[in-house]
Amino acid sequence: MTEFDLIEALRARVNLRRDDVALGIGDDAAVLDVPPGTQLVACTDTMVEGVHFLEGTDAADLGWKSLAVNLSDLAAMGAEPAWALLALTLPEADSKFVEGFGQGFAELAARHRVALVGGDTTQGPLSVTVTALGTVLRGTALTRGGARIGDAVFVTGTLGDGAGALHLIRDSGPGTRDPDKQAALRSQSTLFQRMHRPEPRVAVGLALRGIASACIDVSDGLLADLGHVCTASGVAAELDLDAVPVSAELRAQFDGAACLEFAMTGGDDYELCFTAPAERESAIAAALAQAGCHATRIGRIVAGAGVRVLDANGGRIDTPNVGWEHFSR
Ligand code: ADP
Ligand code: MG
Repeated sequence: MTEFDLIEALRARVNLRRDDVALGIGDDAAVLDVPPGTQLVACTDTMVEGVHFLEGTDAADLGWKSLAVNLSDLAAMGAEPAWALLALTLPEADSKFVEGFGQGFAELAARHRVALVGGDTTQGPLSVTVTALGTVLRGTALTRGGARIGDAVFVTGTLGDGAGALHLIRDSGPGTRDPDKQAALRSQSTLFQRMHRPEPRVAVGLALRGIASACIDVSDGLLADLGHVCTASGVAAELDLDAVPVSAELRAQFDGAACLEFAMTGGDDYELCFTAPAERESAIAAALAQAGCHATRIGRIVAGAGVRVLDANGGRIDTPNVGWEHFSR
């Protein structure tokens, strides 16, 4: 297989067409029609084997996730995804890998009507870089910088499942032969689904335009990511620990302290954390229900800097080196 065979194999699988692609794969660069009155929203993310994903990760899962993490960034901006570019570095011209990768990538691309319009294919240690492009009506992008004192803080879905899955794998070893551990892993299919096939909250991001004052996707853990919103907005946040939403599947597998640890500091959730005036809570619930999602109110924006975590009595919980024991009661 040559480089061009690989590109052909990808192109055959990731074949969604859009009318706004004036020129796609095959020339020196793509030419795209950006709708009048809109702004282009662009992001890119790299995934390196051994750093961002475990050796032996299924190619289709990798294809899905490499696009998903980028669509999650577009979602956080309130952008509508349209196009993607893919820079693939492979140790060898492995057609089976490319077919699997293309299939997973295409599955998610089809759901969000994303066209693959170009990329690069090179030899080297396995690494995947996806660039996603989308649009917003001029001036309507959601940013990290708009949180205001008095706003409420919300998060979509549940947090911590991806981190929980990673913990189970690390604990068991990827090729574990222990039947008990294997059974435990099998029974945790929901957690692994969240880890390998995250669902970017694209519809939620679109629904939040004109409602949310600031927004970010949770990829590095709630505390870190909400911290970025606070820094960009020049404010502080108070989080109610008891309000942080955790799935039943995670609770079934870990004790309460571990669940909270994963939820607060684990990565790979790809939920949206956003702020909005508290009185818009019912408008938010309605808009999100339309987007097939639920958001939980988890705190508030206050004066100051950083993120403070409060227990059920409003007492402050120390989180300087956020660790396991800090979330024990
Ligand atoms: P150039 O040498 O001009 O950069 P390439 O030979 O790298 O062109 O690529 C040929 C065409 O195939 C270009 O349109 C490029 O965007 C596309 N392409 C290359 N690799 C990929 C890939 N992994 N995914 C999608 N398109 C790709
Ligand atoms: Mg090239």
